[in-house]
Amino acid sequence: MTTKRTDVLVIGAGPAGSIAAAMIQKEGFTVRVVEKEKFPRFVIGESLLPRCMEVLEDAGLLEAVKAKKFQEKFGAKFVKDGAVADYNFSDQFTNGWTWTWQVPRAEFDTTLIKTVERMGVPVAFEATVTAIQFQEDESSTITVQHKDGNIENIEARFVIDASGYGRVIPRLFNLDRPSTLGERKAVFAHLQDPHRMNYDEPNRITIVSYAPGTWVWIIPFSNGVTSVGFVGSFDFFSTIPGDLKAQFQTLIAGHAHLNERFSNVDFVFEPKKLESWSATTDQFYGKGFVLTGNVTEFLDPIFSSGVMFATVSSHMASKLVTRHLRGEKMDWNKEYTQPIQQGVDTFRSYVTNWYDGTLEKIFFSREQDPEIKRQICSVLAGYVWDQKNPYVKDHATALKRLARMISYQSMNS
Ligand SMILES: Cc1cc2nc3c(=O)[nH]c(=O)nc-3n(C[C@H](O)[C@H](O)[C@H](O)COP(=O)(O)OP(=O)(O)OC[C@H]3O[C@@H](n4cnc5c(N)ncnc54)[C@H](O)[C@@H]3O)c2cc1C
Repeated sequence: MTTKRTDVLVIGAGPAGSIAAAMIQKEGFTVRVVEKEKFPRFVIGESLLPRCMEVLEDAGLLEAVKAKKFQEKFGAKFVKDGAVADYNFSDQFTNGWTWTWQVPRAEFDTTLIKTVERMGVPVAFEATVTAIQFQEDESSTITVQHKDGNIENIEARFVIDASGYGRVIPRLFNLDRPSTLGERKAVFAHLQDPHRMNYDEPNRITIVSYAPGTWVWIIPFSNGVTSVGFVGSFDFFSTIPGDLKAQFQTLIAGHAHLNERFSNVDFVFEPKKLESWSATTDQFYGKGFVLTGNVTEFLDPIFSSGVMFATVSSHMASKLVTRHLRGEKMDWNKEYTQPIQQGVDTFRSYVTNWYDGTLEKIFFSREQDPEIKRQICSVLAGYVWDQKNPYVKDHATALKRLARMISYQSMNS
């Protein structure tokens, strides 16, 4: 058995892992990435938010992604029974990025990690972290199993767990906790999109309200392929007969626009499903480790916040790790857990208000106050740390109050 040594070991080569590795390398520490899969690998999560552009830029990864000419995304469009609520990121409250991308993740994630490799970071693919032993001084020995059966130990001063749905440290140390959000399921596919028109506005994600509690994402890519996914309760899907492909086709046929655009097109891959994705953990850091990206908490896909949280949390965490390795004394709770939790909690309010119908009432009300729309737009762009925005600061109550006011006004008009 061989043993390697590094300052920081990053588990996972998704967006969270790539950002962490790039930042640690930039700060002059040694870092290694261990990734279970062979890249490119499929993962869902294709519509980004503008807030992650700042992180890509600071980590030195923005230009490599730009060169891929992914579909630019300028906003999010919500559609219900012919009514349209269009949120354009150029018209938002917080001063920040006004655009981002829609990306096939296999290509996006590969671009990030290959750029990180070119920066000089060693990345082991098809290598799975199977055990971690933390020592008293908080350094650790990480056991890695390679595809050929070879097992190696890596000694690290610090571990960044960016293993996404793998949730390596929470699983190994029994930190996993169920989410407070209801369980949902998604059925999705990549489709050829020959009938796409400018009217379909490929430069934004379209969210279609399909049935109460059920919605559809339409995410066009620059290569002519579009990602389409249905999200709903287990009960909703249990009423639709057939296998996944039959269910997907029945759902497409059940909506006029989807049927016109996608009923007779070729699948790039046949429908896949994902279910019960929401998860959280007891703690976001510990002696010798920090959790980033999906490992901290993943809520729901409705507002495309996953990659934004993955990149922002890794950016924040890796800066703290390098300060810690330099011997600085820090308050991890104040500088990491609290801000990440505040961002997650803001989105949690939006997710809850989406599924209970409050946000639909706001999005599709006839007279939207333009300033409030700009404030909500900043949340949809991922700027959930701007305490000057009342729809961030008062996220727990502001949406309900606004919906009540809209109901009152429509009763009296
Ligand atoms: C239905 C659905 C739709 C979604 N849509 C969106 C969207 O439109 N926009 C958006 O931003 N987000 C979306 N998300 C969320 C998005 O998928 C995730 O938030 C995002 O991929 C998290 O990135 P990450 O880097 O934390 O983890 P990942 O991208 O999952 O990367 C983690 C990596 O760790 C590796 N790994 C796991 N275990 C081990 C191990 N033991 N050893 C070594 N490596 C390991 C994995 O192979 C993987 O490559 C969606 C989620 C769902 C469920």
